[in-house]
Amino acid sequence: MGSGDAWSAGPLDGTEGRAVLLRLVGTVEAVLLICRWCGSEEFEAVERELFCFGCCLPMGVPDGWEEGFPGQFPWNLEPSRAPLPARTPGSSEPGENRRCPEGHRVFEVALAFVLTNDRRIHGLTVGLRCPDDGWLHLYIDKARVLPAESRPHESEAAGGSPM
Ligand SMILES: [Zn+2]
Ligand SMILES: [Zn+2]
Repeated sequence: MGSGDAWSAGPLDGTEGRAVLLRLVGTVEAVLLICRWCGSEEFEAVERELFCFGCCLPMGVPDGWEEGFPGQFPWNLEPSRAPLPARTPGSSEPGENRRCPEGHRVFEVALAFVLTNDRRIHGLTVGLRCPDDGWLHLYIDKARVLPAESRPHESEAAGGSPM
């Protein structure tokens, strides 16, 4: 909704204007990622996605997979300031793992979200830390989260999980 350079429908005075302004920029929340399925705190980073090192499930970072982000919607990531990690669309081959300078490929992960007033994610940052040696890396830097319009309603129709 709304183009990038849109202004509010009209001017708002101080008190109300400041409250609306705070809602406009959204709420920021940051968490250390814990796998919701197996409780692991270690992940591999491949082509924008985070895979749990414990159970191998993807967390849904590139597409807003609803089981990874309950209550959200399918999305696409768009770069803001920094480019997104490279990706090969349509490829069934596994991509390159991100590795720390010492070659490890399993990380602790911090996620930061910008949430709109209705709790939808509209910005996403992912940081990695190698637990073996402590290297830190900003993997996804303030990506914009845009609702994906093309995906059919498979979430409700599919019902049960594939397991
Ligand atoms: Zn897991
Ligand atoms: Zn390392």
